[in-house]
Amino acid sequence: MTAQIIDGKTIAQQVRAEWKLRADKLKSRGITPGLAVIIVGEDPASRVYVANKVKACAELGLHSEHIALSADTSEATLLAKIAELNADPKIHGILVQLPVPKHIDSDKVLNAISPDKDVDGFHPFNVGALATGNMRFAPCTPYGSLILLQKSGVSIEGKHAVVVGRSNIVGKPMALLLLQHNATVTICTSKTVDLAKFTRDADILVVATGKPRMVTGEMIKPGAAVIDVGINRLPDGKLCGDVDFDSAQKVAGWITPVPGGVGPMTIAMLLQNTAGGQHRQRG
Ligand code: NDP
Repeated sequence: MTAQIIDGKTIAQQVRAEWKLRADKLKSRGITPGLAVIIVGEDPASRVYVANKVKACAELGLHSEHIALSADTSEATLLAKIAELNADPKIHGILVQLPVPKHIDSDKVLNAISPDKDVDGFHPFNVGALATGNMRFAPCTPYGSLILLQKSGVSIEGKHAVVVGRSNIVGKPMALLLLQHNATVTICTSKTVDLAKFTRDADILVVATGKPRMVTGEMIKPGAAVIDVGINRLPDGKLCGDVDFDSAQKVAGWITPVPGGVGPMTIAMLLQNTAGGQHRQRG
């Protein structure tokens, strides 16, 4: 068997095109959805992510504000900036690029963003809403992974979905989204004994560990849908996922490549959350 490749670039373009139409309609009614992206410090990777998000907003015709603060910005200054954006009617989504410098409490920062403008879906209110089946904003990467499955025609209901990784930004919300779509969900962590026993039983396998190529073909059930969330930079500069693509694609039914799988969906879902989020502020 050779897996069907889930083309994240193409699906992300479709999502963007759908939201461009909706954003255009809103603009014709005098509403331009706006996103504020705050970055604190000089981390080069974060700067690239932020630049890509701002560029993507411009492509969709959304208003965006890029707020770059120096690494020695105090927590109080950052919280004051967030309060200002919470009250700004031009801004419908606020995102603070993580990580923030160590002297700033990231939980405090995420909690300060209005739940109505929390396009990353990290505020405890929105986490709770997702957990209780009342999704408002879902975190972009797992939400994008769910859309990849749906748009590829993978059926979720009644299937055994195994999520490897339990981070707040990927693993846990991914598991909740799959549960919401009636999968039977298992979450594995670094403490799981005999990981392969679980992964081999997965109809849908989502891997988000940050461990390059740790899931190999022999750990995958024939015909399974494999979503590789990992992005790892190898010593030769190339990118790879948390799944060993070469061996996995011989066994899986569907698989996402890295790059070009989940990655492009993250920004597409951010745009969706921003353009869709304006409803929450207009009542
Ligand atoms: P974290 O480091 O926060 O979490 C990793 C999780 O993997 C932890 O729950 C950890 O378990 C688990 N884990 C680690 N090793 C193993 C193992 N050997 N067996 C089973 N579980 C294991 O990472 P993130 O969730 O933030 O990111 C995961 C990956 O996704 C990274 O490669 C990251 O770069 C990528 N990523 C990609 C994005 C995209 O846009 N495509 C966006 C966000 C992340 P434990 O809790 O027990 O320590």
